[in-house]
Order: sequence, then structure tokens, then C-alpha cells
Amino acid sequence: MSFEKLNLDERLLKAVAACGFEKPTPIQEQAIPVILDGEDLMGSAQTGTGKTAAFVLPILHQLINRPPVKKGIGPRCLVVGPTRELAQQVEKDTTTFTKFINIKQGSVVGGVSYGPQIQILTRSLDVLIATPGRLLDHMGQGRVDYSRLEFLVLDEADRMLDMGFIGDIRKIVGAVPEARQTLLFSATLEGPVLRMAKTFLNEPESIQLTTNQQNHDQIDQRIHWADDVKHKHNLLRHYVAEEELSQALIFTATKRGADELVNQLNRKGQKAAVMHGDLRQSARKQTMDEMHHGRIKLLVATDIAARGLDFKNISHVFNFDLPNSAEDYIHRIGRTGRASASGTAISLVCRKDWDYLVSIERLTGKKLKRDMIEGLEPISKEPKIRSTLGNAGRSWKPSRRGSLKRRLR
Ligand code: ADP
Ligand code: MG
Repeated sequence: MSFEKLNLDERLLKAVAACGFEKPTPIQEQAIPVILDGEDLMGSAQTGTGKTAAFVLPILHQLINRPPVKKGIGPRCLVVGPTRELAQQVEKDTTTFTKFINIKQGSVVGGVSYGPQIQILTRSLDVLIATPGRLLDHMGQGRVDYSRLEFLVLDEADRMLDMGFIGDIRKIVGAVPEARQTLLFSATLEGPVLRMAKTFLNEPESIQLTTNQQNHDQIDQRIHWADDVKHKHNLLRHYVAEEELSQALIFTATKRGADELVNQLNRKGQKAAVMHGDLRQSARKQTMDEMHHGRIKLLVATDIAARGLDFKNISHVFNFDLPNSAEDYIHRIGRTGRASASGTAISLVCRKDWDYLVSIERLTGKKLKRDMIEGLEPISKEPKIRSTLGNAGRSWKPSRRGSLKRRLR
């Protein structure tokens, strides 16, 4: 399958070719025709599989090939995502694809000044990319005009739910026109995400390229049992020194834990940088640039800070703490072994992580390999595995809304 077969505008195809994409990824191949058809869509595919282009390209196609509902200020398309880094990445991708067309885009994210954003909102815009908090801020001041809105995209919907944005999203969805095309993308489509999709989307098509049992077979997954935090520090330093590592993402459970770990590593001469939500935007951006240029080898991050970041050269993911959901584990390790390259994911597991390990092994359906490093053997022992639990799905009621096709007629 080639991009040419997807009936996208020539100018978009030219931009796609210019950025070196040879053929669409599976989610792109399946989602683009549905979106071009004007259908609502909920799509899931693992991190790094090209979901951004899967919605940006067909939306751009429609924006340049049909007239707006009306002239005036406000965006025709709103993309909402969980973090400013993610928003910036969507913005960057959109810029790439609009190389040969005239599209006005802007972003409204937290951590940067209001002035330019207020300017943007008083103009006629094609694409507005936003994080929920700042967008609601502006909406509260009556600064956002949605009367021209045709597309709403909820990107990384699972993460927005994890971050507690459901109330914000409800307000945003409540403020935009009912007749619109709504797209929701997520790494997984189940439980609360599925319910959210069914509430906000209109008879959506569903494309699911992930399952719970996503095994990440190309990733060498191991755990090492640890007695305590000090033991974890020793183990991590050993791995960082001994593994053949190009770049590593190291996850901690808390921002404080991240700071402590970075200090530890730096004190022992293993230079590391940190990324979490308390850092200033300029510091985060600098760290991102240094990661992209390979000047940082070790990046310690919390889940939220690392979400959606696209680093191509990650050879190792370390879980200094295990995440408290098995889905997060899958997201985290998905940062390595991207494309077809293989990767390594090593988790340091102590008593407090044990329950999480059980749920991860239950979700992936396999027992992770146990490492044992000579000289760093744990004194404590891993408990014996317990019985497993299932989780039942809940029912939902689909919503009814007017269709965009009707509104455009
Ligand atoms: P996701 O949102 O699914 O996590 P992204 O949209 O961020 O993934 O894409 C991940 C990476 O893959 C990006 O660097 C993007 O430029 C690249 N990419 C996307 N589509 C293609 C394609 N068709 N061919 C090659 N690379 C692609
Ligand atoms: Mg994405």
C-alpha cells in the first residue's frame, strides 16, 4: 500500500514524500480513508506507530478542499492532547505536512505566556493545538470562538484520562458545535477510554491495532529483584555502566524520586538529565533538544513528562519504579524497540512494586525474565505468584448528535 492510493491531495503527498515516509503505517492505512469519509473514529495503536499523521493528513486534506462553515475568527480544527510537549510535536508534524499548502495553525498550551495565544485566538485559524488546562483558561475568558469548528481530535485520550482531564474534556466537548467530526486516538481503547469515546463520538468507526496482550516481542524484557531504594541505585548504576546503551529513558514514580535519582547518578559520574512537570518550559525544551541531538544519554522522567515524546534512539528503558498500571508499563517499554529496532527494558522490582509486577505479567500473559547480577544479589526474595483476577467491562450508551455533513450542506 502506498500513500498515493489514499486519495490525499497532491500537495500533501508531496510533503509526505519530502519527509521521507515511504508507505503509510497500518493505523494510517486504515484511519485515513475513514476520516476522509467524514466518519467519527476511535483509533488505537501502540506508541510510535504514526497516529499523528493518521489524523493530521486527512484533516488537512479536508481543510484545503472544502470551504469553511463561515468566515471569521476561531479554529476549524481543534486538537487536544495531554501535555505541552505532545502539543508541540503535533504542531511540528503539522508544519511538516503543510509545506506546500497555506494553513494557519497555532497552539494554546500551559507554561508559556498568554499574550501571543490571545493574539492567535482573535484570528481566523485552521488548526488549533491545545492542552486542556490552558484552553479552558482562555475559554473561561470568552476568548475562544468555536463557531467555525469542524474537527475535534482527542489525542492520547488514555493519558488525558490518567491525568484527570475528564472534566476538562467534557467542558471542551460541551463547548464545540455538535455537528463536527470527532476523532479519538489512544494507545489502548478499553474501560474508561472506550466509555469516553462512546460519549463524545457519533457512531464512530473503531480501529484497534493494539490488544491488551501486546507483547513487545522485539523488546528484551527483564526484571531484577531489589531489596530497597539503595539497592535499586546500585543495580541501576551497574546496568548503565554495563549495558550497551545508546540512550536510556529511566522512569520513576514521582518527580521527587526523579530528582533524587538524577542527583545520585550525577554524583557518581553518570551524567543524567531530568524531565518532569515542575520544570520550566524552557528547561524542558532544552532537554528535549539535547536528547534529540544525542547529547544526553540518560534521561530520568515521570510518566507524564515522557508521554508522547518521540526519541528515535532509545536503546533502553529502565523502570526504576514500576508504574501502577500494566498499560503504563506497555507504554513505557514501547519507547524502546521502535520501528523494527530491538530494545531492552529492565525493571527494578522491590516489595512495593510487587503487585504491579503481577498485573503486568497478567496483562502481557508472560513471565518476565529474572536477572541476577553477581555481587548485587538481593537478600530478600520475590514472593510466590498469587491467583489472578479478571476485570469486567461496563456498558455504555452511545450519544446522538447532528452530523457535520448536514451542517455543511
Ligand atoms: P504515535 O502518535 O502513534 O505515538 P507518531 O505520530 O508520534 O506516533 O509517530 C512516530 C514517529 O514515526 C514519528 O517520528 C513520525 O515522524 C514517524 N512516522 C509516522 N508515519 C510514518 C510513516 N508512514 N513512515 C515513516 N515514519 C513515520
Ligand atoms: Mg501520538
